[in-house]
Amino acid sequence: MIEAKKKFGQNFLQDLNIKHKIIQSMPKTERQLVEIGPGLGDLTQKLLEVKPLIAYEVDSDLCVYLRDKFSKDIACGRLVLNEGDVLEKFKKDSLCDREYDLVANLPYYIATTIILKALQDPLCKCLIVMIQKEVALKFAATCKTKEFTSLAILASIIGSVEVLFDVPPSAFEPQPKVFSSVIKIEKHKEYFGKESTGVFNSKAEFEAFEKYLRVAFQAPRKTWIKNISSNFSKEKALSLLSEQNLSDTIRPHELSVLNHHLLFKKLQEKSDGRKTTRDSEKD
Ligand code: SAM
Repeated sequence: MIEAKKKFGQNFLQDLNIKHKIIQSMPKTERQLVEIGPGLGDLTQKLLEVKPLIAYEVDSDLCVYLRDKFSKDIACGRLVLNEGDVLEKFKKDSLCDREYDLVANLPYYIATTIILKALQDPLCKCLIVMIQKEVALKFAATCKTKEFTSLAILASIIGSVEVLFDVPPSAFEPQPKVFSSVIKIEKHKEYFGKESTGVFNSKAEFEAFEKYLRVAFQAPRKTWIKNISSNFSKEKALSLLSEQNLSDTIRPHELSVLNHHLLFKKLQEKSDGRKTTRDSEKD
């Protein structure tokens, strides 16, 4: 009997109906399938019925169990089981050497970080992931709602986000304290890279945008101008708002993704003696 380990965010999905719904939501592509955290392998089993799979599991006890349970699939290469921390793998490179779709019941404690890493991985094209409902709503939030923050902007600037369905705590063993949701993020672009598909010119420009978002949303209920003027010229920021016919009392969640992108670009333009992203790269 394998005990669930809290430190690895282990809540094993028991509900067969939910497993079927996840399988039905998978994109119908020829791409490689990758799973993070196969756990006791129940969802893995269903995924393997559809496609070959590459999986990452951090818990060495579970890896022993999985190697035994899936010995035939591993022997014939239908399942590649990698033991280790998926975040370490992301630090080095991609989870796969070709384009892939990610399907996972993610551990809550690192779900947001994993999603942001997968969004940055140019080989990851689609994510079907189960996460805490509250976090799912943040990724799928639309402008003018209170949940609309940098997570929704970072996801929707390169793709489409959809909450597919909610999952109650009773679907798991052990049961988590909160509801979960399965979300689908389909990427249509990349943050940077190949000219026509990159939203930003370079990695440095993308990182500058992440920094801009941290500043713009540092106090989400305060005005955009109040937040932004801690890092950029207030005079310039005010003139940009007026140029765009936007009120100077507008709050960061009231600005659309397009507004944020445009304001960021204009703030980067050198006019007040501060360094632009491009200048920093040259240094
Ligand atoms: N897929 C299984 C299911 O649906 O029942 C288990 C899901 S459980 C919520 C999360 C899984 O992710 C666990 O198996 C856990 O050990 C694994 N995990 C946690 N942190 C990880 C990490 N950093 N890298 C890889 N796997 C991780």
